[in-house]
Amino acid sequence: MRVNIPLKRQFQKKLLSWYNQRSRPLPWRETRDPYKIWVSEVMLQQTQVKTVEAYYGRFISRFPSVEDLARAAPDEVMKYWEGLGYYGRARHLHRAARDVVDLFDGRVPDSFEDLISLPGVGRYTAGAILSIAFGKPETVLDGNVIRVLSRIFHVTDDVRKASTQKVLWSLSESLLPKRCIRDHNQALMELGALICRARNPACSDCPVSRICEANRLSIQSELPVKSPRKPVPHYQVTAGIIWRGDRLLITRRPPKGLLGGLWEFPGGKLEQGEDLEGCLKREIREELGINIEVGACLTSVEHAYTHFRITLHAFDCRYRGGRIRLIGADDYRWILPRELDGFALPAADHKIIDLLKSRKYGDME
Ligand code: SF4
Repeated sequence: MRVNIPLKRQFQKKLLSWYNQRSRPLPWRETRDPYKIWVSEVMLQQTQVKTVEAYYGRFISRFPSVEDLARAAPDEVMKYWEGLGYYGRARHLHRAARDVVDLFDGRVPDSFEDLISLPGVGRYTAGAILSIAFGKPETVLDGNVIRVLSRIFHVTDDVRKASTQKVLWSLSESLLPKRCIRDHNQALMELGALICRARNPACSDCPVSRICEANRLSIQSELPVKSPRKPVPHYQVTAGIIWRGDRLLITRRPPKGLLGGLWEFPGGKLEQGEDLEGCLKREIREELGINIEVGACLTSVEHAYTHFRITLHAFDCRYRGGRIRLIGADDYRWILPRELDGFALPAADHKIIDLLKSRKYGDME
């Protein structure tokens, strides 16, 4: 889909003038440092600006340069990412920082091919770094931009389809100005975040309302078209608060996969025909090779991931023998409860810790 030149000029001009007056002063907009822009773009994937602001400041204070991040231990990087979710992003960013130091002499590359070769850097992130940090003529297409373009240009095909994505990328490319690319791309995303919201778009405040087809036809709520997602499965999962004396056991998940590299209370998914206690004993035997006695259920917490939900049942347990073997886990520690704060754990496990703290369990505050 191409856009005629007068319409394109009108769009660029109105968008840019709105952005210059109304954009939010965000910390990553005050820098041209490609490393910092890269960190912000990775954090902003699937996460709201408000949440990212707090994490970004802490992360950049601790790892102010790509070399600092490359040198850090994986556990420390995970601790600074703890609570932000989608932990694969942190693992990839860390590995990519090491690649930048090893392969590019510590300089974030300014070519699309080099950027895209880094772990976790896809077409969107590469385009954002190149346009925002280096001012290069590269386009961006995130959820906000998809919504804005679908509405303005009346894209009625399913935006989850590869063919529609192709149309949207080329639409975004054809709207790119010759100058002010940095601001143009940020303005498109900002318009989607502030004005062309998924629900209740503020069309009366929109700088491009006069050229917007969805506005003209009053079909804003029908666009973008998205095919329904498959129903989300719900799993029952057990976790053991396993005590040996005054210490409890935590294990680290393998680096790849869901929540990779995070520490957790060991346990696993309930299988058909099992009860929760039996599940926990089996999981601990299979994953760690030790025997435990399962006591009372301390709490059951609900947690939602992108593609499934869990109910996590936490049990008070005692270690009963056996030498730990790392069959399913990557590492383990016997720690005092007060030491838990030094480890990065998933949100569901934090819900358990909150309960333990509220009961003044062990030596917790
Ligand atoms: S007029 Fe409304 S629907 Fe169209 S781009 Fe602006 S906010 Fe979105």
